[in-house]
Amino acid sequence: MPQHLLYGAPAFLGMAMALALAVDAWQNRTGPGWRELTLFGVAVAWWCAAEIGWVLAADPGVRLRIAELQYVGITAAPVFWFLVALSYAKDGHPLTGRRKGWLFLVPALMLALVLTNERHGLVWASMEITVSTLDARIRYGPGFYVHAVWAYGLAMVAAWILVTRFAASPLYRRQLAVVALGTGFFLVVSLLHITRLVSFPLDPTPLAFAIVLASLGWAMRRHRLFELVPVARGIMVERLRDGVLVTNSEGKIVDANQAAGELLKPWREQLLGVRLRGLMPETLSDATEGQFELRMTGGKILEFRFSSILSPDQTVQGRVVLVRDVTGERADQAELQAAQASLRTLNVELERLARTDPLTGLANRRRLLEELDREWARSVRSGQPLSLLLLDLDHFKRVNDEHGHLVGDTVLESVGGILAALVRPQDLPARFGGEELAVLFTNTDLASATIASERLLEGIRSHQHADDAGVLFHVTTSGGLARRETWDQTPRDLLARADRALYEAKGAGRDRVVAATGRGAPREPDAFPAGGPSRGNA
Ligand code: GH3
Ligand code: MG
Ligand code: MG
Repeated sequence: MPQHLLYGAPAFLGMAMALALAVDAWQNRTGPGWRELTLFGVAVAWWCAAEIGWVLAADPGVRLRIAELQYVGITAAPVFWFLVALSYAKDGHPLTGRRKGWLFLVPALMLALVLTNERHGLVWASMEITVSTLDARIRYGPGFYVHAVWAYGLAMVAAWILVTRFAASPLYRRQLAVVALGTGFFLVVSLLHITRLVSFPLDPTPLAFAIVLASLGWAMRRHRLFELVPVARGIMVERLRDGVLVTNSEGKIVDANQAAGELLKPWREQLLGVRLRGLMPETLSDATEGQFELRMTGGKILEFRFSSILSPDQTVQGRVVLVRDVTGERADQAELQAAQASLRTLNVELERLARTDPLTGLANRRRLLEELDREWARSVRSGQPLSLLLLDLDHFKRVNDEHGHLVGDTVLESVGGILAALVRPQDLPARFGGEELAVLFTNTDLASATIASERLLEGIRSHQHADDAGVLFHVTTSGGLARRETWDQTPRDLLARADRALYEAKGAGRDRVVAATGRGAPREPDAFPAGGPSRGNA
């Protein structure tokens, strides 16, 4: 019985491991080759199950049948293992689709030889089964060795494919180690056994299977063995124009595509193993995703976007970092912002110009009427007085006639300057149109406004003008002044009464200010179109 256990336990362990692997691959169904991996597990489990059957069977005939049946697993396992590896092959291979089926020709042939062995002895020349010792003395035939060469050859090619695949990226160093060491261990142990170079006390194959499959299973769970991104995606990443970096849980770069190497060359010649944290802003060091920008020496601006690789239990295993050269983009943005800023300044200037008289630099009619509306409302609210002065240069036609239109313009300009200089900051001097000017006095009653107006008229009167011929002359102005009265309905009423007072000033001999008193109906109530109040020459 202890001997039964000695022989049966490793086989049982191997079977359990193989089944666990098959179930795991089947349940996950991720990565290329999961079907083949499942079938590989089943084939190995079959192999081990037959071994257990052999141990338990007491009848030599039954044992022979079991030994024959075991060949289903023996012949299928290397083919499935090879197919697992093939789905990870880096470059295209000729074994596509149906052609893979030809690989099963060898297992089929071998099985046929096994079942007909009694007639030709090609697989084993003799097999002595001794029930008492559990042992079997077998002399193998050439068929066995030919198949062995084929099977171990396939396994080695498969291992080679996987190893070169994992070796392509330093990210897969652990997976590489598991596959290389596992396959190597298995091949060495079973080759030593078959060639009888080392005589083991019992067949080491089930135990080797158990050990290798356990390590494969561990690597599948721990290091996502066989869940690698498909190869095509790997090639695509390598050819991307944007940089791709992969860091591990310690923040060290473990993989970088060619573009990342180029982009980060000014920083580090060699990226692998370098800690990316050094480049990252402190605030992002624990973020699962984010982005930041860096200006490299030489002025290049790089944008980094990263997201974390999380394990199923949500621990951060590393990060994938995309690196993009955004130098041109940022320059364009800066240019656009500058253009927008100057456009805003221009707009402000345009706004100002739309409300300014170009000749005198005073507020124009539009601005005056806007301010009048605003001050009117304020005055109504607060009860503070509001006065308006309308000015019209006396006999200005004559100035034009005697000194020329251009000199007339200069006179208007000077008069505008005099107004601007003499009014208080809170008052608004304006050019109402033509040679007509105005001043809006805020918080000013009629008496104060009259004094201010007299001062303006005196300023204009005393100013000496000169024409191109050096002829000196003076101009005078007439003014009509009105104060907002409680009976005024709208700003228009105030304007009309000021205009009427101006008319009176002209009639009374010009060069004077007349303040409107009483209700005094406007002279021409509806005569205030855009051109301003009109008056005939008196
Ligand atoms: P009064 O007002 O005293 O009755 O006589 P006036 O000669 O000023 O008569 P009125 O106001 O009717 O005529 C205005 C004149 O002002 C007509 C036009 O030749 C002149 N004028 C109006 N705008 C301008 C301007 O921008 N530049 C110049 N040079 N002259 C202007
Ligand atoms: Mg006029
Ligand atoms: Mg005039």
